[in-house]
Amino acid sequence: MRWIENVERFVFGAECLGCGKASERLDPWLCPDCVRELDREAEECRCPTADAYSLFPMRPLTRRLIHALKYKEIPGMASYLVKHSRVVSGMLGAELSLLPKPLYFVPVPLHRARFRERGYNQAEKIASALAVATGGCVCRWLKRKTFVVSQTKLSKGERERNVADAFVSVLPRELPSRGTVIVTDDVYTTGATTGACLDAFGRDFPLMLKVCTLVYDEPASAVADYVADCQMEWDV
Ligand SMILES: [Zn+2]
Repeated sequence: MRWIENVERFVFGAECLGCGKASERLDPWLCPDCVRELDREAEECRCPTADAYSLFPMRPLTRRLIHALKYKEIPGMASYLVKHSRVVSGMLGAELSLLPKPLYFVPVPLHRARFRERGYNQAEKIASALAVATGGCVCRWLKRKTFVVSQTKLSKGERERNVADAFVSVLPRELPSRGTVIVTDDVYTTGATTGACLDAFGRDFPLMLKVCTLVYDEPASAVADYVADCQMEWDV
């Protein structure tokens, strides 16, 4: 968070990032009602495929928090959401406990121009938070290869063609002999981006491969969201 925002919050009181109401009991971004709502939504975590986990469904509250993570310069939102998820206890915790250890969280790399603009890669912040929560580690084993245009308004087929060749794996000379690679991103919609990341590891990759995102969004609503929220711009 920018220091000027901290000063403003101190002087004028702060608004909840969820409902927009001023509250003296933010913790530090949500009022008690929105915290309860977030904890309730964490119970609705999803597995969009057998190999993918999403910590939250996409709802108005989680949408605002993801937006804050990506566009409001609040990188700490990643660990905040992970803290409120069921990644340690609950259903996701049970799923992760079954995976071969250690867990290697591999963030989906951000395009260089976007990284320069934002100053951080939100997927890397999520990977770090997940690593801290689960005792895993962050491994930058993917690189973005080619420039890809906006994903948000494309069909599934177009997205897949667009990103199919976008990533390459950059592995250490001596790959660990056991463990699970978990490709990490903010939003799962069609799975095209994370699927291309998995493909980058190749068919003979010896470790188990999984995907984990903060939220799961229905593909149809992802397109509708683009129309409603076209300020969100290109998303890769
Ligand atoms: Zn609120």
